[in-house]
Amino acid sequence: MDALTLTDVTKKFGRTQVIDGIDLSVAPGEFCVFVGPSGCGKSTLLRMIAGLEDVSSGQIAIGGRRVNELPPARREIAMVFQSYALYPHLSVRDNMGLALRQAGTPKAEVLTATDRAADMLSLTALLDRRPADLSGGQRQRVAIGRAIVRRPRLFLFDEPLSNLDAALRVATRIEIARLHRELGATMIYVTHDQVEAMTLAHKIVVLRAGRVEQVGAPMDLYNDPDNRFVAGFIGSPA
Ligand code: ADP
Ligand code: MG
Repeated sequence: MDALTLTDVTKKFGRTQVIDGIDLSVAPGEFCVFVGPSGCGKSTLLRMIAGLEDVSSGQIAIGGRRVNELPPARREIAMVFQSYALYPHLSVRDNMGLALRQAGTPKAEVLTATDRAADMLSLTALLDRRPADLSGGQRQRVAIGRAIVRRPRLFLFDEPLSNLDAALRVATRIEIARLHRELGATMIYVTHDQVEAMTLAHKIVVLRAGRVEQVGAPMDLYNDPDNRFVAGFIGSPA
C-alpha cells in the first residue's frame, strides 16, 4: 500500500488555479523530493497533504486512508518548516514534547521519546535552553527533533535548509539523510536546490505551474529529461 496517494488534486485560490490536477504515489520508506521554481505550488501541495489547506477537488490518502476531511493532528504527519516555528517561551525539551503532551501521552513516555530524539540529533546538552539561545542550525535540529518525537507515518519538509548558511546546509542535509535511513520513514521534501534534490531523493517530482512536469529517479531525470525545463532544473548538460 502507498504511503501517500494523490488523485487528481487541485487547488484554486479565488479564481487562480494554483495546483492543476496532480496524481502521485509515494511508496513506504521512499524519499520523495518536490522541485520547481518559486510560485509553482510546492508549499501549497505540501500544506494540502498536511491538512493546513483544503483541497479544491481530488483525493489525498495517507497509508491508504482518505484524509481530505481529517484535521492535521489526525493525519499522522509531521511538518518541518523553513522558519522552524518553535515556541519562544518553551525550552527545547518542551518544544519537542508539546505535541505528544497535547495528545495526552503520559509524561514519562514523552520524556523518553524526547530524550531519544535529542540523542539522535545531538541536542541532549541543549534540552533546557530556549530557542533564542540557539543558533539557526540548532533551532532547525530542534524542529526536526520535534517531528521525530511524534513518530509520524509521513515527514513533510518545506525548504528546511534555506535559512542556513552553506556549511550548515550540507551538515543538516547529511543529518536528514541519516535520519531517513535510521527511521525507515517516508519523507516528502520540498526544495528549489538541485544538489539537495539529487543527493536526497529516491524520486524527484518536477513541478511547473501547478502540474507535474516529470517524475523519476534522480539519475534518470538527469540523463533523460523530457524537456529543457526539466534539464534546467536538474542540472543536466545542455
Ligand atoms: P512555492 O512553494 O512553489 O514557491 P506556493 O505554493 O507558495 O509556491 O504558491 C503557489 C502560488 O499560489 C503562488 O502564485 C502564490 O502566490 C499563490 N498562493 C499561495 N498561497 C496563497 C493564498 N493563501 N492565497 C492566494 N494565493 C496564494
Ligand atoms: Mg514554498
